[in-house]
Amino acid sequence: QQPAEKHEFSAEVGRLLDLVVHALYSDREIFLRELVANAADATDKRRFEALTDSALALPENASIRINPDKSQKELTISDDGVGMTHDELAQNLGTIARSGTRAFGEKLNSAKPEDRPNLIGQFGVGFYAAFMVADRVEVTSRKAGSDQAWTWSSDGKGAFTLSPASRSTPGTDIVLHMKDDADEFLDSWRLRSIIRKWADHISWPITLRETKEDGTTEDQAANEGTALWSKPKSEITPEQYAEFYRHISHAFDEPYATLHWRAEGVTEFTALLFLPSARPFDFMEQSRESRIHLHVRRMFITDEAELVPNWMRFVQGVVDTEDLPLNVSREMLQATPVLARIRKAVTKRVLTEIRNRAKEADGGFNTFWENFGAVIKEGLWEDAEHRTEIAGFARFHSTQGDDLVTLDDYIARMKDGQDAIYYLTGDNLDALKSSAQLEGFRARGLEVLLLSDPVDGFWPERLSSYQEKPLRSVAHSHGDLEKFESTDADTTEAADVEKLVPALKDALGEQVKDVRSTVRLTGSAVVITSDGGPDLSMQRLMRRSGQ
Ligand code: ADP
Ligand code: MG
Repeated sequence: QQPAEKHEFSAEVGRLLDLVVHALYSDREIFLRELVANAADATDKRRFEALTDSALALPENASIRINPDKSQKELTISDDGVGMTHDELAQNLGTIARSGTRAFGEKLNSAKPEDRPNLIGQFGVGFYAAFMVADRVEVTSRKAGSDQAWTWSSDGKGAFTLSPASRSTPGTDIVLHMKDDADEFLDSWRLRSIIRKWADHISWPITLRETKEDGTTEDQAANEGTALWSKPKSEITPEQYAEFYRHISHAFDEPYATLHWRAEGVTEFTALLFLPSARPFDFMEQSRESRIHLHVRRMFITDEAELVPNWMRFVQGVVDTEDLPLNVSREMLQATPVLARIRKAVTKRVLTEIRNRAKEADGGFNTFWENFGAVIKEGLWEDAEHRTEIAGFARFHSTQGDDLVTLDDYIARMKDGQDAIYYLTGDNLDALKSSAQLEGFRARGLEVLLLSDPVDGFWPERLSSYQEKPLRSVAHSHGDLEKFESTDADTTEAADVEKLVPALKDALGEQVKDVRSTVRLTGSAVVITSDGGPDLSMQRLMRRSGQ
């Protein structure tokens, strides 16, 4: 038996280890993502190399195996990948920025696209994440095409050793001797949920060794492995799309629209997005941020990258890019132009889809609007860039009938001499329909939009006009009525009303700003309005928020 060779880490590695363990990852469970990513990389590499050297061919049941051993406090991650030689172990795991993946990537540039395996990880620091949970890591690896295996071993503090070892097949075992405070990562339930979260779409089978009641063990499948988005559209059935949609969004409905495309150019990414057909029951209570999943080469990164504006938060799905490193930090996600470009492209694509669906005559869009219109209208308030476009497909209830109308419908029906789009806001549609504020407008055949969502108290002011027609609240615009002829004959003598005004002013005193006679009412005796000041529903909202 040869004695173990002792090697010092390069100076940068010592520093880096400290950084990784203490600062790089906020979330310790990430170590497993990194090790699984490396195992998948290595398996991809071997498949790729076997294209030109059949002696390196993968075993038929190539997999990534995770084996927790509670009694030994060990976690082992094994693969059938390309493996590492003595020198590669020393270089890849002992030197920073000596990323084998990167060198491999360069070699790959000349290869045909279909031969290019999916390679994860571009930074060359992922492996060190193991030291977040382990106080000693042993890597036993046998390079494909070689008979000799080697074990690399380190406590991550300054040195590593290399000793000859044996392994019956090519591949790598990473044995983590877990820290005392990392017991949770030996729990198979915990491990399963970590794999499910980060590595569900890795194409190689991942198995988890479970110990049964009787002490025997069994390797159980732990990942879905579909990554449906990476398949060509022609190979995916509508049922598969729908199932995938339900899987990732925890929904039960059919998608209303499925958007699946690959963007090529400065930034490359694949997106598989869905518009739901039903509103999740707690949708309005959920947070306002989009939850589209961001993946880097099939590995889940985050669902907090906010890939679409808040008002599009009903959009579900996945974006997968190769243009970001696997261990991209939160700060980097905010700053990188890669993500800004993806956001812009994704938003544009979804907008186009919504616009096109709005043109369809089958009524499907009205249902979609009933579900998500209240959220989309938030865009009229806060998304200056897309405000006009949203106004183009937005739908509203109106005094014209029970059907939803668009602003273009409204404008086409405007009366001669009418220059504004009238609307009335309130808490619910039925109350709005019977509001006394509408009487004068009804009597003159003037259509009024009936707005009953909370956000309706805000956006009309921001949109302010559409196709050069100002939006005007009927609560502020009864002055306009005098321009139009009423079909209801006035039965009350104006003089009688005028006599009543001072008496009412007297009775109400400070409670009102003013009392005036009006032409806006036909059936009702009085109506409360607000001239100039904030709209009534806005006043109510402000009151509710204590202003
Ligand atoms: P990266 O994956 O970004 O290159 P890592 O720190 O995760 O950086 O890994 C460093 C290098 O170690 C890899 O590039 C690869 O060459 C090698 N390596 C790590 N794990 C394995 C493995 N399971 N099989 C073969 N090589 C591996
Ligand atoms: Mg890696």
